[in-house]
Amino acid sequence: MAETRSTCPYCGVGCGVIIESQGARITGVRGDPDHPANFGRLCTKGSTLHHTATAAISLQSRLLHPSHRPSRGAAPRPVSWDTALELAAGHFARVVRDHGPDAVGFYISGQLLTEDYYVFNKLAKGLIGTNNVDTNSRLCMSSAVAGYKATLGADAPPACYDDLKDTTTLFITGSNTAWAHPILYRRIEDARAANPAMKIIVADPRRTDTAGAADLHLPILPGTDVALYHGMLHVMLAEGLVDEAYVAAHTNGFDALRERVRAYPPAEAARLCGIAEADLIQAARWFGAPGSRTLSLYCQGLNQSSRGTAKNAALINLHLATGQIGKPGAGPFSLTGQPNAMGGREVGGMANLLSAHRDLANPEHRAEVARLWGVDSVPATPGKTAVDLFQAVADGEVKVLWISCTNPAQSMPDQNLVRRALQRAEFVIVQEAFGTTITCDYADLLLPATTWGEKDGTVTNSERRISRVRPAVSSPGAARHDWATVCDFARRLESRLRPGQPTLFPYDTPEQVWNEHRESTRGRDLDITGLTYARIDATPEQWPFPEGATTGRARLYEDGVFPTADGRAKFHDAPYEPVAEPRDNRFPFSLNTGRLRDQWHGMSRTGTIGRLFGHVPEPSIEMNPADLSRLQLAAGDLVHVTSRRGTLIVPVAASESVALSQAFIAMHWGEEFLSGSTSNGVKVQGVNAVTTPAYCPTSKQPELKHAAVKVLKA
Ligand code: SF4
Repeated sequence: MAETRSTCPYCGVGCGVIIESQGARITGVRGDPDHPANFGRLCTKGSTLHHTATAAISLQSRLLHPSHRPSRGAAPRPVSWDTALELAAGHFARVVRDHGPDAVGFYISGQLLTEDYYVFNKLAKGLIGTNNVDTNSRLCMSSAVAGYKATLGADAPPACYDDLKDTTTLFITGSNTAWAHPILYRRIEDARAANPAMKIIVADPRRTDTAGAADLHLPILPGTDVALYHGMLHVMLAEGLVDEAYVAAHTNGFDALRERVRAYPPAEAARLCGIAEADLIQAARWFGAPGSRTLSLYCQGLNQSSRGTAKNAALINLHLATGQIGKPGAGPFSLTGQPNAMGGREVGGMANLLSAHRDLANPEHRAEVARLWGVDSVPATPGKTAVDLFQAVADGEVKVLWISCTNPAQSMPDQNLVRRALQRAEFVIVQEAFGTTITCDYADLLLPATTWGEKDGTVTNSERRISRVRPAVSSPGAARHDWATVCDFARRLESRLRPGQPTLFPYDTPEQVWNEHRESTRGRDLDITGLTYARIDATPEQWPFPEGATTGRARLYEDGVFPTADGRAKFHDAPYEPVAEPRDNRFPFSLNTGRLRDQWHGMSRTGTIGRLFGHVPEPSIEMNPADLSRLQLAAGDLVHVTSRRGTLIVPVAASESVALSQAFIAMHWGEEFLSGSTSNGVKVQGVNAVTTPAYCPTSKQPELKHAAVKVLKA
């Protein structure tokens, strides 16, 4: 039996795993006791990874050969890699020549490795000359990115997992950590056992397992987070809990915010949030108590919002106002949803970002990247972000779309738009490991990809720690590594777009891609020039890790200097604004979405394992028992859940964890489980039949956490 150290592919905790294999078969997995993210622990998903690897092969859900659909409606036919990539390069070259570089687009994934992300980004921005490269990280972390940049100056989570040991107040807001980041939650339980005086506050509309274990649960109304944080700051100001010395020495803009939060006295803020005034005051006192060390953990409750940037920034305001940042046990700490949304941000693999945290709007930064890549320029105009990209495809503006390692036909809001776009596109390429995702049905060209246990590269977890992903077995069938497919395609496209010039993609290994990426970070806030593969092989390290460093940096901003022009952080001054689609008489319920403990994304991997359905075997819409009684519904009754965009049919379940006039559906259930249709008759699967594409004007992250719906017996 062979053993290979790697990283779990599911969530941003980034646990180290040891893969056991025999020949071409993965036979077991266990936690890596030496990995600093998990010290040997794995959750139910991580500990069943080996079963997903074998089940996918035996269930024949793996894509093993490229295939081409010669016309819409025709059956896909197997083709060689050579035929497939020549076809793809021909389509791209023709469309770029006839319609310009912005007529093509890429929709990629926070599950890709950093090396995959790097070459996709270089292909779009460096070779083709379009910023139309966005990712499902837009649905996950873009509000966190915008919140960090608006306040601290850079997209850099300042805290680390070890801070839990020193925390006196843990503020978990918009996160069911116990289910969504289980191994991090084990560390919270350990920290609390070691320090029973530690206070835990959870702000969440639902009484989740995380909320149930808190000292104080604030069941705020959906979308009212900014009112909560402004109300807490009002209390802190009134009670002298603001660290005026820190504010004066290290920040700008507090006067405007001080004025702003005058309008949020605790009684008014509590009214807006639908919570008790005394609870809001208690939360503010625990957060800002003299001598306290407060750590905030937050996730999609803040991010997946039409006010996502304002929510993130208003929370960070509290840390700046109280000086709760840059010291052990304190700081704002976004939890990454996907395993490598961080790595994608580091290479600049989104429509509005540039490599190594450079600014797309800065001509010097664009020139630096062009020099690094050996091209004349990179485009200045921001590309289309996820929702707008699919709109542009539906409108015929973007004609060729390459989708990699993600399933937008299930995971994007407003399925009507997404599916119309996929049908309207002139040519759709889907690069996937699993043929069961519904997006594969829309592919003109299907390219089989390798996946966990087969891939080689790096990922970055929530605490900026870079770990190696290593292959335990060889690629099945003709499946190829994503970075290798992109490079092969890029060289074919180069021969059409810039014949006779040296290739921009001269890589034979992912390590060569990595070395170019790390060189691109030299002198930047995330400088990783000291992190060779050999160094990461020795220990997964946190960035920054410049050349000559002996260890990564656990915590940022300990010196009170921020990566802004004058070194000072900036308070963000924005009012509370309600959700984009408030409930009303026609659509009287607030529908929330979220994760289950044992499932992952659209279930392409976890759905192959029967035991992972033991926790929650079937989909349901969870509602408060009093609402069920009022609607004369019994648990198990089928109901129509209808929003302005579509309808789902789903059984109803009674749940005390859901407040009156609210409802919850898990995001994972797809075509086999939830049927429905959009308002104009398109058949769709899953909760995104009803979610809204309304997005935050700054981060462009859609409000997957709230839609107004009505619920009627089927
Ligand atoms: Fe994998 Fe996340 Fe579970 Fe760790 S907590 S084993 S990274 S799913």
